[in-house]
Amino acid sequence: MDYVGSLLGGLLLLGVVTDGLLRKVGKKARKFPCCRTCGMNMYTAGPAKFMPGEVSRYLEQHNLPTQAACRFICPNGHYQLWFIPKFGNTEKAFFLKEEL
Ligand SMILES: [Zn+2]
Repeated sequence: MDYVGSLLGGLLLLGVVTDGLLRKVGKKARKFPCCRTCGMNMYTAGPAKFMPGEVSRYLEQHNLPTQAACRFICPNGHYQLWFIPKFGNTEKAFFLKEEL
């Protein structure tokens, strides 16, 4: 329950963070992050076969399961965004933009 709770909290936090980012660039608030290149809403992707070193290092450092990392992908394939919500033992959420 605790894990699910913090995951949900993290998703809510993502909403807040995304909101702030979008407001900064003067766009309407959206549920998912949108691609900086084409402006399309990115969609959540399942776990990847390959995880960038930065992401796995961060998970390892904070003893987080692989599932803690979410992945968003641009529908036009511009890039993917890795996101790890803030958990009890981490100071802030983790973002990584990866070109495809
Ligand atoms: Zn795009």
